[in-house]
Amino acid sequence: MKMKRPYWSFGLVGFPLEHSWSPRLHRAALAALGLDGAYELLPVSSELFEHSIGHLLSALRTRQMHGLNVTIPYKSRVVHYLDDIVEEARWVGAVNTIVMEGDRLLGYNTDVPGFFADLQRLGWLNEEGADNKVALVFGAGGAARAVVYTLLRAGFHIQLVARRPEQAWEVRNHLLTCATDFGKKMDVLDWSLRELRGALQDVALIVNCTPLGMWPHTQSCPWPEALPLPKGARVYDLVYRPRKTALLQLAERSGNAFANGLGMLIEQAALSLELWIRRKVPREAMWQEVQGGMDS
Ligand code: NAP
Repeated sequence: MKMKRPYWSFGLVGFPLEHSWSPRLHRAALAALGLDGAYELLPVSSELFEHSIGHLLSALRTRQMHGLNVTIPYKSRVVHYLDDIVEEARWVGAVNTIVMEGDRLLGYNTDVPGFFADLQRLGWLNEEGADNKVALVFGAGGAARAVVYTLLRAGFHIQLVARRPEQAWEVRNHLLTCATDFGKKMDVLDWSLRELRGALQDVALIVNCTPLGMWPHTQSCPWPEALPLPKGARVYDLVYRPRKTALLQLAERSGNAFANGLGMLIEQAALSLELWIRRKVPREAMWQEVQGGMDS
């Protein structure tokens, strides 16, 4: 008798979702693994969130669905509906992946290991860690929290810059115990030429965690025009549309190494899928999918 092949069912909850690349990445990986399945966009407006998440989580509990991703604006809100969250998600205060483990719904944050894996892929982390270098991070939203936590663990001191300093202070206060545990410093800077100029010594990495430069506002850049980039500092932009943002173009002109957020996007997606199917997921299939013209 022929056994019926399992059919995997995954989805992404957020709002709005029409520009998400996740379905194509996940479908490419499933196809490469020879697995049958679907990855659906599940746009949910704020008023309907409570009702919809209830239905989706019960579909996970009854194994009608096998995994759920969560994105803006629900990564923090969803935490209250889960049985538990892993340590990384607790530090970051956000969940992007939900898994049914035994009889419990667990929340993970794969942005953290995804960002870390991409820094490793780029060869930007050495064996000894960051050697007490400084990372300058723009933005203080959900992605910035994941990035700052990852960088603290990797051994960087952090300088955080946000247009609303109170938001940066909130991130700093939330992660202060973690920074202290790792023996790292965290400072908040004003987003001003004067303050940035005075803080560039030892900056080895600059990370943009704001949407500045993202299509269609491709001219905007977090780095002030009048300030040269610090020599030798690597520049990572979480934005990947366009592939080379204004910030990355500046890095290229200045001779600084640079990378966009595609690698992190792929890693966080692959790590989510690995949590759901408990198999190694081929990154090449996902890279091929993004290189195949996912420009819009
Ligand atoms: P978020 O929670 O909305 O935070 C965005 C941050 O950027 C906030 O601090 C926000 O400040 C600031 N910001 C927004 N518009 C700005 C502007 N015009 N000027 C200066 N600061 C501005 O979003 P997120 O989840 O952290 O995502 C941030 C960016 O990273 C997005 O572009 C997202 O697509 C990208 N991302 C990429 C990956 C990846 O895998 N590559 C993963 C996650 C996120 P206010 O609160 O004051 O608006």
